[in-house]
Amino acid sequence: MTQEQAAKSCICGYCPSYFNCGEKLAFCLSQSGKSKCIVSEFGCVCPGCPIQQELGFDKIYYCTRGSEKDLKVII
Ligand code: SF4
Ligand code: SF4
Repeated sequence: MTQEQAAKSCICGYCPSYFNCGEKLAFCLSQSGKSKCIVSEFGCVCPGCPIQQELGFDKIYYCTRGSEKDLKVII
């Protein structure tokens, strides 16, 4: 799945932690990278996202902590 495809269904815009500074969405993908403007964690709605379910991801706070792939290597 491309970033563009994921971004269309990404629900970060409904998240209390989200701040819109014009970044591309779908922070869970490794090609997206962390957010450069979201700094505070006020909750994460990724567990309710259809993209997360489709891709079999299970982490949270991708915007501040990194992609699913990045977070998988942290034990
Ligand atoms: S899992 Fe989170 S970052 Fe990934 S597409 Fe869904 S809402 Fe966006
Ligand atoms: S990655 Fe999670 S915490 Fe960050 S904006 Fe998206 S839903 Fe919110």
